[in-house]
Amino acid sequence: MDLKNYIGGNFSNQSGNEWITNLEPATGKTICRIPISNSEDVQRAIKSAKDAQKDWGNLSHAERSIWLDKIADKLEEWSEEIAELESRDTGKPISLSRSVDAARSISNFRFFAKIIRELDVETFEMPDAMNYVIHKPVGVGALITPWNLPLYLLSWKVAPAIGMGNTVVCKPSELTPMTADLLMRAINEIGLPEGVVNLVHGNGIETGAPLVESDDIDFVSFTGGTVTGSKVAASAAPDFKKLSLELGGKNSTIVFSDCDLDMTVSGVVRSGFLNQGQVCLCGSRIFVEEGIYDIFKQKLVEEVESMKIGDPLDENTNLGALISKEHLEKVQYYSDLAIKEGGVLLTGGDPCMPTEFLQGNWMAPVVVEGLSHDSRCSTEEIFGPLVTLHKFTNEDKLLKMVNNTRYGLAGSIWTEDLVKGRRIAELIHTGMIWVNTWLHRDLRVPFGGVKDSGVGREGGKWSLNFFSEVMNVCIKDK
Ligand code: NAD
Repeated sequence: MDLKNYIGGNFSNQSGNEWITNLEPATGKTICRIPISNSEDVQRAIKSAKDAQKDWGNLSHAERSIWLDKIADKLEEWSEEIAELESRDTGKPISLSRSVDAARSISNFRFFAKIIRELDVETFEMPDAMNYVIHKPVGVGALITPWNLPLYLLSWKVAPAIGMGNTVVCKPSELTPMTADLLMRAINEIGLPEGVVNLVHGNGIETGAPLVESDDIDFVSFTGGTVTGSKVAASAAPDFKKLSLELGGKNSTIVFSDCDLDMTVSGVVRSGFLNQGQVCLCGSRIFVEEGIYDIFKQKLVEEVESMKIGDPLDENTNLGALISKEHLEKVQYYSDLAIKEGGVLLTGGDPCMPTEFLQGNWMAPVVVEGLSHDSRCSTEEIFGPLVTLHKFTNEDKLLKMVNNTRYGLAGSIWTEDLVKGRRIAELIHTGMIWVNTWLHRDLRVPFGGVKDSGVGREGGKWSLNFFSEVMNVCIKDK
């Protein structure tokens, strides 16, 4: 099966004849081929978006919200297909792709339909004048997404971007194109005006880079790695393109001795290993207060070892495959490095898989102890099923260790003392923090990181502000 680009309301072939073979992470078998679009294809997609922008931007918020709801309806109808495609394409367990990927992709469209429909014109009265604030479309946007939550993250950008009157060109990850293609089929089937949403497949260099560089792109919303984000920022800067960067993370989990132990162990295992540890928010450096370190470690290892690794399409699977051979090698490199850096592997290694999965990218989850908090394994983003355990004795030392990374995306704190939980939370240099929970999402709240984890915030009104130009009109009384 060969996928096609979606430009101006049509599925079309790329201009050259270059392809990428998309492999199933669990089995190594081919799922499909995707075109490598070149700058000519990218320009065609941008032109189509540009041609459509004026009419689309002239619709009211309420009219565009109806379209967002129609997309959500279609995705809901196809939710089982979303879950299956996502599970095959990423290697993640089907239970996760149903409850998280499919469900969130639908709710992203519903959520933005609602808040855009309800968006009020803000007014500010002065003694002799009145101000009112409107949201205008920015223009044509480039939406670039990674492989770990393919449709979840693409829909998180497409919904607010088009809802605010922009038109877009999407560039999904070349490793996970299947549900981006499904979204285009949904958009095509409901008859969204042509050119509002376009999609080009391909890799970063030949497809992503010319998209960001184009003079006709007005804004870029990028989610991906920090190194790529820095290239995207450099390329967008000369034209002052509006830019949102959601980048990598190396998140701390803090376990105080007064936590609810069983709940905390489950929460920490979930935060360390969900999606095989391939979530930017995963807590992979775990700081445990000295008094409960030994019992916590024992329970943690037991729970990690009880997770079922296996066929992503099996309902009972807890951990699936890693996204690619290259990524598996990267995580294995860090597992070896942990030992070289003086750590001890408490559990983890190569799982024994049935024959049909031997060509897949499998790794049993790894727990390491004995590393310094500033070791490479504890400070660099691994983005896989590997966590490091560290002991702490007091809050001052804890905060120094926790804040000692170049990343600042998220984290979690586990304690029964909520006053302490809030105090520590506010002293951590991240964009987001959870207390006694993790990845507990309210779509209205700001999402994003500080330091090398990104620039700007998305979510709720922060998305609406990013995907629009806010304009103040001041009218003076006579
Ligand atoms: P990546 O940076 O390799 O690729 C992301 C996207 O950028 C892909 O579509 C890729 O083709 C494209 N790309 C690559 N080079 C480009 C260039 N020069 N110009 C334009 N586009 C280019 O990231 P990845 O490996 O796909 O994803 C994993 C990373 O994403 C991790 O670092 C993870 O933490 C991060 N991530 C962050 C968030 C967040 O919200 N902060 C969410 C998910 C993933």
